Amino acid sequence: MFLKGIEIQGFKTFVDRVRLELGPGVTGIVGPNGSGKSNIVDAILWVLGEQSAKSLRGTRMDDVIFAGSARRRPVGMAEVTLYLDNSDASLPLDFQEVAITRRFFRSGEGEYYINKVPCRLKDIQELLLDTGSGRGGLAIVSQGRLEEILAARPEERRSVLEETAGIARYRLRKKEARQRLEAVEQDLTRLQDLIGELK
Ligand code: ATP
Repeated sequence: MFLKGIEIQGFKTFVDRVRLELGPGVTGIVGPNGSGKSNIVDAILWVLGEQSAKSLRGTRMDDVIFAGSARRRPVGMAEVTLYLDNSDASLPLDFQEVAITRRFFRSGEGEYYINKVPCRLKDIQELLLDTGSGRGGLAIVSQGRLEEILAARPEERRSVLEETAGIARYRLRKKEARQRLEAVEQDLTRLQDLIGELK
């Protein structure tokens, strides 16, 4: 799997719709200071579900929406789509290309899509689990992240390694199964109490 394209509209400096094509090898993005290079990385993090405005170098989530310039009025919506090449079927979806979209309106409403079908953020996170591209995954190393990993506590570093090794998906499933089991056990106890009362 690799990121083959990014489409951005209304996100930070990118007011008009632009599509960046990325090849399977190394792509370098060059431009003057403040031209929006880091905003592209922010856009990728954002689609992957980043919920912290601070991590996107803003103070509120609507800071990601184009705020206007000397020549352009602000817009009301930001939209970013990541196009992932899935010809190696590393994502559990029967599509050669997977498009993941996030939209956010000034009103505060947000939407997520996988291949243009509305979905929950959880669906995107589950889809990308163990690929290293999920939020907090290793595919995106922002400025300062390397130092953070090196200085992390052993348990935090272990979770990074577990995601890389592909264990995170099973750990999450185990946690969910355990929660369901606990709920069933509580129901059973309640049922036994009721039966006891009826006897
Ligand atoms: P450098 O080389 O200095 O790191 P860069 O190319 O990475 O720069 P970015 O940090 O991506 O640049 O972009 C910063 C620019 O994005 C600033 O000019 C800022 O005004 C602009 N910007 C950020 N958020 C918005 C927004 N919501 N609307 C319009 N412009 C924005």
